[in-house]
Amino acid sequence: INKRPVNLTKLIHSVIDMTRPAFTEKNVNLQVTCDSSITLHIDPERFQQVLLNLVDNAKKTSASGDCVRIEAVQTEQAVTITVTDEGEGIPAEDLPYIFDRLYRVEKSRSRKNGGTGLGLSIAKEIVESHGGNIEIQSKVQEGTRIQIQLKRGVPDDQSSIN
Ligand code: ATP
Ligand code: MG
Repeated sequence: INKRPVNLTKLIHSVIDMTRPAFTEKNVNLQVTCDSSITLHIDPERFQQVLLNLVDNAKKTSASGDCVRIEAVQTEQAVTITVTDEGEGIPAEDLPYIFDRLYRVEKSRSRKNGGTGLGLSIAKEIVESHGGNIEIQSKVQEGTRIQIQLKRGVPDDQSSIN
């Protein structure tokens, strides 16, 4: 991984720009709330890949008229990125395996949409390689929330971030 100081707000907006047409086509709303000028010491290509997958998953599970929300909030210690959807949700019995390679929920709408079942396992790997953590909460017929938490602060080397 190639970590450098990255403007998270810009990165999120680049992801939105890439996926907006697919949301428009499906009539799914996409809302973004992002603290301005969040700078993180991350690999931008890898993180873009993570966010694209989370937003793609949220879109696949959403029906016309649903809303997907992306939120990025920073505190002194951490930055939290949340992707929330109002889709079909994930059954409790599937949740423990959801970050496993190739795991896909048998009856999910996204299954019909194709996909390899790799996105979340890659996302977890990337987030953890940045010292962060990724968590999922979900309820069938209510929706899913994925939260990424990254610690802020000076990286191991002497280069400063903010
Ligand atoms: P890929 O990401 O490789 O294109 P995929 O989307 O199927 O394929 P993952 O992103 O790893 O793979 O997701 C694994 C499975 O978890 C999905 O197939 C789907 O069943 C379920 N899932 C993931 N995100 C959601 C979500 N937001 N709502 C409901 N189910 C989800
Ligand atoms: Mg996916």
